[in-house]
Amino acid sequence: MAQIRIDSLRKDFGAFTAVQSSSFTIEDGEFFMLLGPSGCGKTTTLRMMAGLEMPSAGQIYIDGEEVGRKPASQRDIAFVFQMFALYPHMNVRKNISYPLISQGMGRKAARAKVEEVSRILGIEDILDRPVGGLSGGDRQRVALGRAIVREPKAFFMDEPLGALDAEFREHMAEELRALHDRMGATTVYVTHDQLEAMQMGDKIVVMNHGVVEQFGVPQEIYDWPATLFVAKFIGSPPMNFLSFEGRVAPGDALVTLGSVEMAIPQLREGFAGEMVLGVRPEHVRLDDGSDYRAVVRAVEYLGTTQIITLEAEHGEVKARISSRDPVRVDQTTGLAFNERTLTLFDAGTGRALR
Ligand code: ATP
Repeated sequence: MAQIRIDSLRKDFGAFTAVQSSSFTIEDGEFFMLLGPSGCGKTTTLRMMAGLEMPSAGQIYIDGEEVGRKPASQRDIAFVFQMFALYPHMNVRKNISYPLISQGMGRKAARAKVEEVSRILGIEDILDRPVGGLSGGDRQRVALGRAIVREPKAFFMDEPLGALDAEFREHMAEELRALHDRMGATTVYVTHDQLEAMQMGDKIVVMNHGVVEQFGVPQEIYDWPATLFVAKFIGSPPMNFLSFEGRVAPGDALVTLGSVEMAIPQLREGFAGEMVLGVRPEHVRLDDGSDYRAVVRAVEYLGTTQIITLEAEHGEVKARISSRDPVRVDQTTGLAFNERTLTLFDAGTGRALR
């Protein structure tokens, strides 16, 4: 098991900076997600931690030891690639025991170890099968078996479920998380899928254009996005954004939307200028008593809840409400927001005002 700390880590490819001065700490035993859109630098960050890419600047510490210049083979980590490259001419048992035998472990000890790992993964009965004819899920388990059999300090996974269809993907995600909970090894996992990150991660780093936008536990990132980018990237349907010009004072601040005042509790800083008010769909209520008026444009039924799309003075607003509440298209209603959950952003920098 391992604590991994990166400090001011940077990677340039020629004149292009793929990762800009990133710093965060992955605690021992955490399931840690590197999340962001394609090209944001998450794979490059992971590859630097794994020793597959040399940093341009900054440090990587594994259990306090600086390893930034050490080759991958000396970092005691296991890298699980998206493409599970198994040795096609070997059976399952040989595929899993290969890392042990090549490290010089005796056949008997290796055999016992493979059996232990195959019990954890539930693949005891396919050990003697050739890997060629295995289902996608079994191939995935064999590849995992090969990664965990060495008992590395940490696992690095780059979109390991990327090639799977949706249903199977969810099943494997649960298995991976359960496997992690049994083994307790630090795991760093790259994904562009915000739902996967929220469901599986103990902590998440959200990256954009090579920059760490936010770092925290899933709920904190969902409830208190640090930037407009994070607010837009996390959550489905996404957060609503209402743009307006105004002024807020520190303390229990009031913002005025149209003729309606809303309180933003405990703002530390004041601000004047273009702002964006962010509110999640589940914190929007249809409330005829409210003076903030909107017209219902669409109703999407989702079983227990429904997503209502409304047109308000400051833009489109989506509300997630109970399906029992009667709503019809073209109806005019008042909107109320759960004030404790509102986030105000500086429209210029995209930074959340706290
Ligand atoms: P994806 O999910 O698409 O892999 P990512 O967030 O993992 O995206 P990276 O693979 O880390 O992104 O790439 C970040 C940026 O660095 C991209 O613009 C990519 O084109 C660039 N890049 C990555 N590797 C190299 C390289 N060896 N040489 C030049 N540019 C590179």
